[in-house]
Amino acid sequence: MTAHPEYLWRNGELVKWEDATIHLTDLAWGAVGAVFEGIRAYTTADGQGLNVFRLPEHMQRLRDSSRLVRLPLSYSVDDLIGFTIELLRANNVHEDTYIFPLVHIGGDHAQRNDPRSLVAAMYMRHNPSVTHLCTGLAHHARVSSWTRISDNVMPPRIKNISNYRNGQLANYEAKLDGYDSAILLGPQGKVSEAPGACLMMVRHGKLITPDTTSGILDSITRNAVITLATDLGIEVVERTVDRTELYLADEVFLCGTAAEITSITQIDHFAIGSGEMGPVTSQLESLLLSIFRGENADYAHWLTPVY
Ligand code: PMP
Repeated sequence: MTAHPEYLWRNGELVKWEDATIHLTDLAWGAVGAVFEGIRAYTTADGQGLNVFRLPEHMQRLRDSSRLVRLPLSYSVDDLIGFTIELLRANNVHEDTYIFPLVHIGGDHAQRNDPRSLVAAMYMRHNPSVTHLCTGLAHHARVSSWTRISDNVMPPRIKNISNYRNGQLANYEAKLDGYDSAILLGPQGKVSEAPGACLMMVRHGKLITPDTTSGILDSITRNAVITLATDLGIEVVERTVDRTELYLADEVFLCGTAAEITSITQIDHFAIGSGEMGPVTSQLESLLLSIFRGENADYAHWLTPVY
């Protein structure tokens, strides 16, 4: 088995992995202005099919991200959906997969410095990524000493690659201190999100999550979880959240494309609720897995079939 797929997709065509090179001097400034997406495809329960979760929403966000950083991406959402399916089929993918499209600054050095001459270039690759849902994964987290970027520093609501330096520093700190995850507070000391996932807590039977002006990514999984919880009859509240509310919560979990649903059972050495994954987290986790596997007709519209 090769460690990488045979093809990746670049600027409108499939190219052999080995041929997808750039010049060394394009490092740094070409990438600092990039935006990207993280998308997942899941096999169906019978193992025969493959579906991409909320692909149009991800590609719309890629277009929004490009627009906000002034990269002139010429592809429509439908084009981008078509390219994704083409790539997965070309590599004959039949396993849970993470898909990574990146729009970066192309052109030459002179063109990069003026927004009126920016050239967008794009590639898309994927790698195997097995779901961890319903495996009992639970994290211990710390509230980071780093502050989450705010909207007038860098745009947190989009997947601007430079934003991720902030989360990376928080993650490094958490890991070196013996935790699994970081939770970032915004400049006003209110809870924002984790480095690569949004945060939800359950308290007094309500699902509470920082609102979209709390310096969070405009998360597609967060939106899905809000829909699912509402459909289950759970009241969802989007508002600012204090740090100490986390310590008193009955349940806390992270949600995102990579994080899927990840239970947080301890924060800053406070056990959350019983110190084990709670019932609401567990119910949402099972529901999401059944949707990913194509077993829930009510949410079939969230899946784009590849096969
Ligand atoms: N916040 C950040 C900073 C992220 O990188 C991600 C992952 N894309 C999320 C939240 C979750 O967003 P989504 O559900 O759209 O993957």
